[in-house]
Amino acid sequence: MRAHEAGILHADGYGAAPQWLPTPQDVNELLPQLWPANVERNTDGVLAVSGLPVTDIARDFGTAAYVLDEDDFRSRARAFRDDFTAPFDAVAGADVYYAGKAFLCSAVARWVMDEGLNLDTCSGGELAVAQRVGFPGERIALHGNNKSVAELRQALSYGVGRIVVDSFAEIDRVAEVAAELGVVAPVMVRVTVGVEAHTHEFIATAHEDQKFGFSLAGGQARAAIDAIVAKGDRLRLLGLHSHIGSQIFDVSGFEIAARRLVALHTEVADVHGIAMPEMDLGGGYGIAYTSEHSPLTPGELGTQMAALVDRELKELRDGHPDAPLPRISIEPGRAIAGPSAFTLYEIGTVKDVEVAHDAIRSYVSVDGGMSDNVRTALYGADYSCTLAGRTSTAGPRLVRVVGRHCESGDIVVMDEYLPADIVPGDLIAVPGTGAYCRSLSNQYNHTPRPPVIAVRDGVARVIVRRETIDDLLALDVDEPAPLQEVR
Ligand SMILES: *Cc1c(COP(=O)(O)O)cnc(C)c1O
Repeated sequence: MRAHEAGILHADGYGAAPQWLPTPQDVNELLPQLWPANVERNTDGVLAVSGLPVTDIARDFGTAAYVLDEDDFRSRARAFRDDFTAPFDAVAGADVYYAGKAFLCSAVARWVMDEGLNLDTCSGGELAVAQRVGFPGERIALHGNNKSVAELRQALSYGVGRIVVDSFAEIDRVAEVAAELGVVAPVMVRVTVGVEAHTHEFIATAHEDQKFGFSLAGGQARAAIDAIVAKGDRLRLLGLHSHIGSQIFDVSGFEIAARRLVALHTEVADVHGIAMPEMDLGGGYGIAYTSEHSPLTPGELGTQMAALVDRELKELRDGHPDAPLPRISIEPGRAIAGPSAFTLYEIGTVKDVEVAHDAIRSYVSVDGGMSDNVRTALYGADYSCTLAGRTSTAGPRLVRVVGRHCESGDIVVMDEYLPADIVPGDLIAVPGTGAYCRSLSNQYNHTPRPPVIAVRDGVARVIVRRETIDDLLALDVDEPAPLQEVR
């Protein structure tokens, strides 16, 4: 018997499961923290979203497809709006900006607007989506380390509530565009605080070798503030901004960031006599991609973040007892969009590859891959998956789920147990693909990108349609070469 048929792989490192991945007792089980709230197996064993079976979704819309549980997205947005911000009422209040770069389309912009969140954009394109649905300008932020003059003009004409400036050249540019339009530009200063967070760890450094922001340690952040103040009435200085990383599971990095921002905030009050009304601590709250991750809820995060902000604000309170405290804002993207969607694929081939003596790896190829989820190839991200169109009584088989692209790094799920009897035609679902999958998607190998199907109350609706070969060819403007006369 080959090793995988027993569900056990004995191998010298090859073909073995990573330590964090236990052999499942029941290979059909769904871990609740990985799936949108309304996803479960129906009585036929088929994965269903608020009652709608994925087999219907595959039949009606094809695969690969992103399937988004609308109520799950909305309730995560609400949990940030209510549960996260409530503990800040005792400080100076807090606002939530959904980071649109995680995933944005018109429907999502509307949900964010309906649920009373603000919106974080980082390009003229994202801003155009917001404008298309009439998202109120004052509730929009614009980020970016190289915003064009056209984007600044677009943002200021629309009346965005904050532009997060990122360079000295940009301070001049924003002031010029504001003058041209006869408006006052509300600005925040992106500060590189010297904290970089990665999942469970953060590192505090004096300098950060990266493209974003003004360095705190190098004195640039202070100089940026002086430059903004020197622009007089054209720029309105709202406050300081920092974003320390992504997929973060504990708040210690935010505490250091807040401490350093408060110190600069206090210095600005001392030197310029300005009490900046805002302070932004960015996004980065982690989600569960596999059983190894256990994120905090928005309520738990809010409680911990409000407590640490309150502690760190002591310096400001002591130095300026009469100054109003800044209102805090945060910018979660992944933590709202990520868990609310999964990608539905159809298996095309199952291939056993001998990777070492008596060690086999089962490669399961699906009808998508690095064009719809580049995170595994780009960051070595871990994902999980499950057999979606049925349950199975077969034992677990360790597999690697790969895409259909011409790259051997085209991996969707590095290691997972699926039932040993999977066959071509089976559907599988990869959870946690709501953030940074569609938004980072590409048409590698001239592969049209999958649609985004939103499901609510058991009803499916296309919110981003599937790309077609005609869409791809439409961009290709080369004229056919005139026929050569053959002599
Ligand atoms: C990417 C980004 C976010 C969102 O990060 P998540 O990890 O998705 O929460 C927020 N703010 C800024 C400035 C960002 O660049």
